[in-house]
Amino acid sequence: MRRSRHAKIVATLGPATTEANKIRDLYLAGTDTFRLNFSHGSQDDHARAFSAIRALEQEFGRPIGVLQDLQGPKIRIGLLEEGKLCLHAGESVRFVLDGARGGKQAIPLPHPEIFAAAHPGQKLLIDDGRVRLSVERPGDREMVARVIVGGPIRDHKGVNLPGASLDISPLTKKDRADLAFGLELGVDWVALSFVQKPSDLIEARALIGEAAGLVAKIETPMALDRIDDIIQLSDALMVGRGDLGVEIPPEDVPGRQKELVRACRLAAKPVIVATQMLDSMVAAPTPTRAEASDVATAIYDGADAVMLSAESASGAYPIEAVAMMDRIIRSTEQHRLYRSLIEASRVDEENTPPHAVAAAGADLAATIEAKAIVGFTASGTTAARISRKRPPVPILALTQDENVARRMCLLWGVHSVVASDPSGYEEITQIAAVAAQREGYARSGDLAVVVFGLPFGHRGATNNLRVAAC
Ligand code: PGA
Ligand code: MN
Repeated sequence: MRRSRHAKIVATLGPATTEANKIRDLYLAGTDTFRLNFSHGSQDDHARAFSAIRALEQEFGRPIGVLQDLQGPKIRIGLLEEGKLCLHAGESVRFVLDGARGGKQAIPLPHPEIFAAAHPGQKLLIDDGRVRLSVERPGDREMVARVIVGGPIRDHKGVNLPGASLDISPLTKKDRADLAFGLELGVDWVALSFVQKPSDLIEARALIGEAAGLVAKIETPMALDRIDDIIQLSDALMVGRGDLGVEIPPEDVPGRQKELVRACRLAAKPVIVATQMLDSMVAAPTPTRAEASDVATAIYDGADAVMLSAESASGAYPIEAVAMMDRIIRSTEQHRLYRSLIEASRVDEENTPPHAVAAAGADLAATIEAKAIVGFTASGTTAARISRKRPPVPILALTQDENVARRMCLLWGVHSVVASDPSGYEEITQIAAVAAQREGYARSGDLAVVVFGLPFGHRGATNNLRVAAC
């Protein structure tokens, strides 16, 4: 199973795609990494999905990534009288810290941090910003706010406080339990929601160690302010445009997306562009033209991966959404302007030997029109460094570690394979040539560029380059 595109697809599983045969169809349609969204579903649901994915790996003999997305400290209102309320522009309402089934003068908001952070003029956005309020009289246990844009609100709807720095851990009690559960299952990535500051990642890393890659979801302006440190401390980034587009003005999201993609390429870390990419396919078999264009834009930006949320988790056309994303990516990557746009957004590599050797390998392969760049990689970093050059030649990453092979299912242009390390120098080209042929990249006599680090098994010591005839 070889994909005929560079950018990867992340698909979220959910009620529309619980059965093993649906998950199989999503894989066949193009999913490279599955997202288990712990904001929804039970641990049992996720465990079942996880084993279905691992069974697919066996069936197809290919590594498949699994990303556990933790809910994080998502702020929600409590229960309302009759389950809903309709707020009208101009009226004053009261939020209370404790209370059950409240009306307009006692809307439960069971988060003390909100009351601590709210100041007069602070915006409160409910239900992805559909209903907007402004705090008039803050307080420790209750506060009064005026409705600016009215509308219906329902039980447990999400609340955003744009710009407010909240004194909350990125890992709630539920997240800690879910994380332990996910690590026990053996997920490849853990995504942290509502990251605000670098120390959030240190806290998570202390629990995860090297057991999984750490994805920082960028969905608050505080995270944007500290983005360089956040990228340093994480293994990948997700541009969470759903919450980000509520926390910052929607018109600023496209530019931020471009900045984040570029910063990740500079750091040689994968970046996922997420949320609402094919949103109308939740209910319709074809996307809007604007959505097709949105996916293409992320591809022209050079994103490693694009993601589907409700489209594949709870929509009416989950398989069609993945197939459509696959088609848009392939069409974009084959367009005659694609290479020039990707090259225009090229970033300078660091002038350290490992980065320079990987970059030279990518250039060399393009110059001699090699059929593949074969990278031996113990931790995936050699592959990431080759990938960030976005070379026109396919990247075949060989690793001894199946967990590393699974993590590379997020990396642009990388086809990862589990293979044993060469035992001596001469075996290096031999193993590379055999793999390039077996995976269908090269025929006997074709050239491949081999990138590796000696001694073998040391993380990140990319220091060797060879041209091999297959
Ligand atoms: P979510 O995160 O889907 O978990 O909310 C992504 C986003 O906010 O875009
Ligand atoms: Mn979010």
